[in-house]
Amino acid sequence: MPLHSQRKLPLNATRTAYRTLQGWALGTLIEQGAVSECEHHGHRSDRADPDAWNRAREEAWRTAFPGATPEACMAALEEIRFSIGESCPDCRSD
Ligand SMILES: [Zn+2]
Repeated sequence: MPLHSQRKLPLNATRTAYRTLQGWALGTLIEQGAVSECEHHGHRSDRADPDAWNRAREEAWRTAFPGATPEACMAALEEIRFSIGESCPDCRSD
């Protein structure tokens, strides 16, 4: 998996801009490369990279969303994992 597939990271929107736990969790997953955004449709998809998911979980545990427990942060990551597929639904239907 080429590293440049991560080039669309929202570098200026990280850390401080998240207003919700869900937004923060998604940002953490994208940042760590566990989740990617389709550059054509903007849909999020699971990159099915166990190392990236482990990094995201560690990061979520260490730097929990302000006001949320680490447990709640981990749950938010898992919630996203169950809510997205492994590929963009619009790309798939082309
Ligand atoms: Zn797509």
